[in-house]
This record gives sequence, structure tokens and C-alpha cells, in this order.
Amino acid sequence: MENPLIIILLGKAGAGKDTQMELLREKMGLDYIGSGELLRERKKIDDFTGNKISQTIDNGGLVLTPVVFQLWIKKLEELKNRGDVKGIIIDGSPRKIKEAFLLDEALEWYEWNKNIKALLIDISDKEAIERIEKRKYCSQCKEIYIYDGKVEKCSKCGGELIQREDDQIDGIKKRLDWFKKEVEPVIDYYKEGDRLIAIDGEQSIEKVFEDILKKL
Ligand SMILES: [Zn+2]
Repeated sequence: MENPLIIILLGKAGAGKDTQMELLREKMGLDYIGSGELLRERKKIDDFTGNKISQTIDNGGLVLTPVVFQLWIKKLEELKNRGDVKGIIIDGSPRKIKEAFLLDEALEWYEWNKNIKALLIDISDKEAIERIEKRKYCSQCKEIYIYDGKVEKCSKCGGELIQREDDQIDGIKKRLDWFKKEVEPVIDYYKEGDRLIAIDGEQSIEKVFEDILKKL
């Protein structure tokens, strides 16, 4: 592939990024680089960085850029050498403006900088709060449920459904403040470079996906 499509997925918690990412991967056969996934893998290694990543995530903190960046590079390198990449969805980064610069340079190095789209699934703070407050997780298998007052146990494994601490109102507000401070400049950066695609995320899953396909 000459110029594979690189999609950088952006949006607040609750915007439905995971769902749209799955749909896009299925439809377009894209590879995936997720900072969350990379960190979860890395923390399984019992060494200084592995243990520190665990601690940081458990305390609701952000793993610092050089550590995350090293993991992206390793993954980009692996994909480049595989040689058959049609496109990549990048999720969970950039989380701040300096990561947007670094990511651009990394993509330039791998010669994947000709067809970059930042895809913003946009929802209001109010909508984000409403959605996240309803979100519950299976304590066993981590499946996500939207709590409707009816579902009480996980339909996959029967595990207890719980609310994550940072899905409670203070945690949500903290994450929204962080988004405004750190991620909005990233959005502006892609917008100025004419690489931003903004989608109204307050529509049905199907409609959001339709809009994404139309605008890509
Ligand atoms: Zn379960």
C-alpha cells in the first residue's frame, strides 16, 4: 500500500470510540494501535516499568509520554516490517499537544504521513456525564454495560456489575477538565492542518458510523 490511511481517533470518554473503532476495523481491515492496550500488555512484565505502569494506572494517573511513545514505536516498527498494512487506527493518543508532534514525526519516519485523518467523535460534556454515569463493568470479564436498571449480572459470565471509581461524577468531571486542557489543543492542531474530521457523536451508532464513512 502506497499511502495507507492513518486514523487518529479522538473523543471524550463516553463518545463511543471503541464501538466505532471496531466497526471501522471490520469494514476497512485496519490495524490498530491502542495506547491502553499497549500499556496493559507492558504492565504484565514484572520489571521496574511494568510495575510502575500498574501503579500509575491503578492510581488513575497518566503514564508519561516517553514510556508510551516507546511502545508506539515498537508497534509501528512491527507493522512496517510486516509490510501489508492497509491502514491503522490509533486510539488513546495523542493525549497532549507534544504527543501530537511526536506522533507526526514518528509517522513521517515510517513514511505513513501522507494520509492522516484525525477523527473526532464529538459529544457535549452533559452527554458524556449522562452516558458514563450509566456505565457499568463486569467485575470478572470487564465487559461494559449501559446500566438500565434491569441488567444486574453479566450476561456473558454471570459476574457482578460494578461502577468504576473514575466513572463516578468527580472522576468524570476530572477527565472532562483534562480533555479541555490537554486534548482540545490537539484537536485545534489537526484542524489547523486541515486533517480534522468532526462527527456528531450524539446520534445512533449506525448514523455515527455512516457519517464517518461518508467523511473519510
Ligand atoms: Zn462478565
